[in-house]
Amino acid sequence: MKCYDWRILPDYHNVASNKEARSDKLAIIPRTKHNISRKSISEAALKVLYRLSNSGFRACLVGGGVRDLLLGLQPKDFDVATDATPEQLRSLFKNSRIIGRRFRLVHIRFGREIIEVATFRSHSSDSPKTELNTEGRILRDNTFGEIEDDAIRRDFTANALYYDIANFSILDYTHGLEDIETRTLRLIGDAETRYQEDPVRMLRAIRFATKLDFEIEKDAAEAIYQCGQLLADIPPARLFDETVKLFHSGNATRVLELLRHYNLLQYLFPALDEILCHEPDEAMLDFVDQGLVNTDIRINNNQHVSPAFIFAILLWPAVHKQAMNLQSDKLKIVPALFQAGSSVMSHQLKHISIPRRFSQMARDIWTAQPKFQRTQGKQPSRLLAQPCFRAAYDFMCIQSMVSLVPGNLCHWWTEYQQQHPTPTNSKPQQRSGNRRRKSKPNVG
Ligand code: ATP
Ligand code: MG
Repeated sequence: MKCYDWRILPDYHNVASNKEARSDKLAIIPRTKHNISRKSISEAALKVLYRLSNSGFRACLVGGGVRDLLLGLQPKDFDVATDATPEQLRSLFKNSRIIGRRFRLVHIRFGREIIEVATFRSHSSDSPKTELNTEGRILRDNTFGEIEDDAIRRDFTANALYYDIANFSILDYTHGLEDIETRTLRLIGDAETRYQEDPVRMLRAIRFATKLDFEIEKDAAEAIYQCGQLLADIPPARLFDETVKLFHSGNATRVLELLRHYNLLQYLFPALDEILCHEPDEAMLDFVDQGLVNTDIRINNNQHVSPAFIFAILLWPAVHKQAMNLQSDKLKIVPALFQAGSSVMSHQLKHISIPRRFSQMARDIWTAQPKFQRTQGKQPSRLLAQPCFRAAYDFMCIQSMVSLVPGNLCHWWTEYQQQHPTPTNSKPQQRSGNRRRKSKPNVG
């Protein structure tokens, strides 16, 4: 079903401002011709839009919020674009703060929800406020501009649609509606240049293609093979954020497939990539696959997921292999896993900076694995009391599903927990990712 009506596209002159009306690229879809209702926009986002508009500023919903509503999906969060400067936003909203240096944005907080507001920006490489490195990567970009400039500096056409609060119309400067209709993920402008400006756009392409079930348009797809190595220069902290978004998108299995397809896995998880390319072990492949399926199911059921679990799964083939090599008469399995876990993790941290609480938890999950084999005496109750128990148990059950550990072990521990309920194993946890909030500024 179409979520807007194409026949109205030539009609835009009655709602467009003079400058916009002159733009032959702009299509305006009035409220009567599209499916976005204010009822599906969060109250907080509407408050921001209305206060800006009532104060004489231009205010539009933009990005994933508009895209997802057009696709009939529930947006993860709402982003606003405006002609108000960050300082003007600060004085309009007491509950706001300016974040980011490279890209100054304003976060407006309403309880747990954060609305990210960006001032319309233009991207011109010769502006004194745009800094590029020698590879053409944008280091800083705070040149304010007009809404049409703002549209074309966004990444994909499907992400460059504006819902204008002034008249509830949709503004389309890049043929984004057409691409939404055909489920095409198309970069705005020249694909290689856009990846050079920000290589993370390649990871975003994979995330949106899997999440929305879109096809990556040919030029955007081919340029990934040319530009993949640019990801090696991305700060590891930014790669942590993107990796978690990728693997917590509810489509982690497809994400891994596409990362491998586009030769990008080596920049995120070189140890896993090496094993998958050169010495794939069937049971380990099944384990990784099953771990990702399990994560997808939990995400899609709104259950708790921790980044630690994803890293534990994806690094396990390398940790397991090293631990097997280290294990000997002198070195027992738990210390071997401890040593292998530390070594694999310290190499991994050069690529993705995993916060300590997650890297430690992943290590605890690994070293807990042999302890599940000890089902006599006080050992089970000791393991049950460990903070990492629940995640380590899930991890062990995945191993048992693919026959890496005896099949009945998962069953034994499931029964043991039922007979020994604790506050952590009797109450199902709520997924923390459920909160509507933004953690870090993005480049847009
Ligand atoms: P979701 O919130 O569902 O992950 P989104 O499209 O809203 O998807 P955000 O990261 O919230 O993604 O960014 C909001 C918007 O900012 C994007 O839709 C896009 O228009 C723009 N944007 C974000 N990151 C970039 C980038 N690296 N390059 C260009 N534009 C970007
Ligand atoms: Mg968003």
